[in-house]
This record gives sequence, structure tokens and C-alpha cells, in this order.
Amino acid sequence: MNIIIFGPPGAGKGTQSNFIVKKFNLVQLSTGNILRDEIKKKTQLGMEIDKEINLGKFVPDKIISKLVETFLSNKDYKNKIIFDGYPRNLWQANDLDKLLIKYEQKIDLALNLKTDIEIIKKRITGRYLCNKCGKIYNKYFNPPPKNKDCCSDEFLNKREDDNMDIAIKRFNIYMKETSPVLDFYKKKKLLKEINGESSIDQIYKEISDIIAVIEA
Ligand code: AMP
Repeated sequence: MNIIIFGPPGAGKGTQSNFIVKKFNLVQLSTGNILRDEIKKKTQLGMEIDKEINLGKFVPDKIISKLVETFLSNKDYKNKIIFDGYPRNLWQANDLDKLLIKYEQKIDLALNLKTDIEIIKKRITGRYLCNKCGKIYNKYFNPPPKNKDCCSDEFLNKREDDNMDIAIKRFNIYMKETSPVLDFYKKKKLLKEINGESSIDQIYKEISDIIAVIEA
């Protein structure tokens, strides 16, 4: 099963994807995570990507297309992908359709975590990531456990693009560029809406129930 998870930046796509990959034995394709890994390598490409991300802009479609093709062409991942943060515009959605045909795969489900801008501001400005295990926390909604070796202050990091100005900019770009992609999947009758403002557990339960029905 291939799934796409939509929602504005900070809606909880990464958090939910982490849960879903474990429960349903899928692999997560987070274009944002892959881009951040490239930045860490300090390559020429990484430096160009860094500039775009920290301006709150999208990384060029051609770069994203290559990343996604590497994943889709990997036989170990065939029909096991959860796309997180992709496709982000109509060009990418059409490109994904072509890649799916090329690698004989399909999308089974598109989820939309609907979340308002006021919640997004708190989710983004309160977000921390454990450098060691990759777990995502939020100082308002989901604080890291105290006295735990792994997710202690020493390992917690903020993303450079997780500040208020960039958060608003990323939200506006999402509304302009990514909202039309939701219609694209609605027309294909693949889109399911989820209230992204519910608790993490509630959202996880709703998503799990939807996937379980499709799998049955
Ligand atoms: P995310 O981790 O999904 O919030 O992505 C962080 C940043 O990476 C975004 O604000 C974009 O600059 C860039 N990015 C991630 N995925 C894509 C994509 N599919 N297309 C273009 N840019 C992307």
C-alpha cells in the first residue's frame, strides 16, 4: 500500500508517519528529511537546498523528482511507501503519476490533516527533534520525557526553519501551492480528511482505522 499524508507544515505529518510505518510495515519518504540530510553533508547541492529551505521556499521540482524516483525504483520499497511532504504542488503530483506508472505502482490513500494557522504557529515554534532517535516533540502539546538518556536537552534540536516568520510563509505557500493537490486526489476518490487539531493519539487511531479498512 502507498499512502500520501498531506497537511500544512507542523500539522503532524512526520509524527503520524513515524507511527504508521511501524504499525503497517511501511517506509517513510519524507522529502524534508532527505533534504536536511543532504544539507548536513555540506555538498554544493546541500548548500543550495539550505538557502531555499531557510527562505521558506520550495526546493526545485527536478531535484525532488530525482529523490522520489530513487525511492520508487527500489524494489524493497515497492507499494510500501508513505509520502510525507510530497507531492507539494501540481507539477509534482503529475510527475508522481508518471513515476508510479513507470514503476508499476499506485496510490491507495491520501490523508489530509486539516489544521488551522493558530495551531500551526504553536506546533512549529514549539517543535523539537531528538538528534539521536529522531523522535519529534512539542513543548506545548507533547513535551519530551524528563530524565531519559536519549531525548534529553543535550540531544534536542530545533529546525532552523521552525520560527514564526518562516512558519507563516510556509503556511501561505502551502495554501497556494499544495491545496490544489488535494483536489487532484479528491477527484481520484483517494482523499480522506482528518481533523489535525485532535490529539496525537486520536489522529493515530483515526488513521489506523482507515488503513485497516483498506487493507482488509
Ligand atoms: P518539511 O520537513 O516537509 O516541512 O520540509 C521542509 C522544507 O523542505 C520545505 O519548507 C521546503 O523548503 C523543502 N521541501 C520538502 N519537501 C519538498 C517538496 N516536495 N518540494 C519542494 N520543497 C520541499
